Amino acid sequence: MVERPLGDEERRLAAALGRGPDGRSTDLASGLGAPRWIQRSLKFCANCGTRLVEGIPPTEHRERMACPACGYIAYVNPRLVVTTIPVTDAGEALLLRRGIEPSRGKWAQPGGFMEIDESVTEAAIRETLEETGILVQPGRIVGLYARLEAAVVVLVYEARIVGGEARRTPEALEIQAFGVADIPWAELAFSTSFWALRDWVLARAPETPVPDAFPGTEVW
Ligand SMILES: [Zn+2]
Repeated sequence: MVERPLGDEERRLAAALGRGPDGRSTDLASGLGAPRWIQRSLKFCANCGTRLVEGIPPTEHRERMACPACGYIAYVNPRLVVTTIPVTDAGEALLLRRGIEPSRGKWAQPGGFMEIDESVTEAAIRETLEETGILVQPGRIVGLYARLEAAVVVLVYEARIVGGEARRTPEALEIQAFGVADIPWAELAFSTSFWALRDWVLARAPETPVPDAFPGTEVW
């Protein structure tokens, strides 16, 4: 296949299209490479132990860390964080006050890193149960939110509560249901939680006043 290079106008269009709704969840520009904390861990070849070298390998289109001895390429990709917004019979969102860092004491929806040996919905169900004691049935996807600095993509399901009982856990100091008008915007733990809850509120009750930007502080 012969690749035709994009013209300037096409390049601008591609950049604009790529910064869709999920682009709001990060303040970083695209194309800056892996975050520093990941780069620091890419020193040696996982295959043969040789020191990795940065450059564009013959088969690639961008700079990567690659092994000069065996050709191994150390790919780095975002990790999937799977979360849910459990919705009560009264139409309220169940949030937890985080018991662990980052952002201990602030509010977020339950969720966590997807394991290598489970499906996406299994991850959503498991994480919600572990953190809150609530059994959910994941429904529609509210959105997918990229956070470049943390190298994560956060998937947010709206979920129906089908069992279990809300309880405090090491990960949840408190669990509380919030109506669409009562979301604690400034006390949310992450910008991704902010955008997801904003999208959820506006889909459910479009007239609800919501902030235009994350009013809280993000620590991670
Ligand atoms: Zn190697």
